[in-house]
Amino acid sequence: MGGLRIGLGYDVHAFAEGRRLVLGGVEIPHPLGLEGHSDADVLTHALMDALLGAMRAGDIGRHFPDTDPVYEGVSSLELLRSVARLMRESGWRLVDADCVLVLEEPRISPHRDAMRAAIAQALGVDVDTVGVKATTTEGLGTTGRGEGVAAQAVVLLERDS
Ligand code: MG
Repeated sequence: MGGLRIGLGYDVHAFAEGRRLVLGGVEIPHPLGLEGHSDADVLTHALMDALLGAMRAGDIGRHFPDTDPVYEGVSSLELLRSVARLMRESGWRLVDADCVLVLEEPRISPHRDAMRAAIAQALGVDVDTVGVKATTTEGLGTTGRGEGVAAQAVVLLERDS
C-alpha cells in the first residue's frame, strides 16, 4: 500500500517587456516574456510543484527561494533536473505527467513537442510520459486579457522498490 501518489501544481506569471518567453524549457519568439526571478518558465514551475507535492516534499518556494540570488535568471529546466534527482533519491519513479498552459497568445501547438522533449529529457523519462497542451479562457480573466500565463500540471508517482 501507499505505492502510488498524485501531485498537482499550479503557477501564474505576468507578461513583461524586455524578458524572454520560456515555456516548458523552450524559448518562444514573442514580443513579451514573463516576469520572474528565474527564467519564469511557468509550465516547468507548475510541474515541479506537482512532483514535490506528490513527494510531500514542500514546494519550489521552499527548495528554490526567490530571495536567493543563486536562482536569479536560472533555467527552470535545471531546477527540474534537481527535482527529478530528489525524486529518484527519495525512491519515487514518475509514471506519468500531464500539463496545461492557459494563455491567449502565442500559439503553443508548434512548440508542444519540443516542450515535451525538453521536459522528458530533464526528468530522464520517455517523451511519451509527458503531455503538454494549451487552452485559452475565451478572453475572460487575467489570462484572457493577455496579462500573463497560467499553468497546471498533474503527475503520478510510483514507489520505486
Ligand atoms: Mg513560478
